[in-house]
Amino acid sequence: MTATPAETLRDIGEAAVLQRIFPKLPAADAALVGPGDDAAVVAAPDARIVITTDTMVHGPDFRLAWSTPHDLGWKAAATNLADVAAMGATPTALVVALTVPAETPVSDLEALADGLREACAALARGCGVVGGDLGASPTFTISVTAIGDLVGGDPVLRSGARPGDVVAVAGQLGLAAKGLALLFARGVDKEGNPDARRARNLRSRFPAEVSAQLAPRPPIYAGPVAALSGATAMLDVSDGLLLDARRIAQASGVVLDLAGRGEGGASAATTGVAEVLHGGEDHALLACFPRAEDVPPPFRVIGRVLAATETDADGRDIGSVTVDGEPAEERGGWDPYAEWAGGAG
Ligand SMILES: [Mg+2]
Repeated sequence: MTATPAETLRDIGEAAVLQRIFPKLPAADAALVGPGDDAAVVAAPDARIVITTDTMVHGPDFRLAWSTPHDLGWKAAATNLADVAAMGATPTALVVALTVPAETPVSDLEALADGLREACAALARGCGVVGGDLGASPTFTISVTAIGDLVGGDPVLRSGARPGDVVAVAGQLGLAAKGLALLFARGVDKEGNPDARRARNLRSRFPAEVSAQLAPRPPIYAGPVAALSGATAMLDVSDGLLLDARRIAQASGVVLDLAGRGEGGASAATTGVAEVLHGGEDHALLACFPRAEDVPPPFRVIGRVLAATETDADGRDIGSVTVDGEPAEERGGWDPYAEWAGGAG
């Protein structure tokens, strides 16, 4: 018995593909004009919009052998939603551009739309897809632009942390890095190429870690909560706690001293200190608040902000990160231009 070949984009053409995808896309509450016209119209009650974009390319950013199309839709939504949330805004709308090989099964794009819809429903209810573009390319690429609304207050920048603030985090740290390490170590075949069957087995054995990497669940709602609670600085942890903490420290000209040992410290984490300090891609929200009493759930305090001890030639404070008062050892963050040892797949 031979399986019926999957219906591809080439088989049915763009118009029919869009007809199949549109009903699966999440509607945006703020959409005044949704998909189907030349452009969408989205309400912006605050008169300002928060806007961000991120592209995921097959190879450097994901592997089709590891990520299902559903995962890709979910992750593309989640990472962009996290960037909007990290400004203290509520995500309202997504615009999605896909360029994919013509041999791609239509069912893959339907699953990707399901992932987009389910991520919006789970992480940012009311946010939806208001438009996009579908193109052909040898490389599977998904690019999402997200728009958000500042619910009542000013955007939370990276530069507002002050000595005396506390440092707090909402969401997971290190799980996604653990998942990626597992995939690189055990989700590959003998030649080191990503292997779909091994990845599936790995995911059923380590669902929390592998799913954190392939379909992260950042606490999007916590971004606006932090803003309303007076957060002085915030970002989402995409490249690792130490590296992203340093971004706040440098932008603010302060020292972020993180707890390594003891309750709430990195060493109390079950994933391991290295993953917590260096692992990115969980998209937890890292924020500073003026006082411990201001820290709203689900944030938990993991450190404090101290005055910088060094200044540059112009007399500006030089920001840095310490762990238990000791200078933190940093590794490079995620760099899409860095190569890894595996082959294509
Ligand atoms: Mg970010």
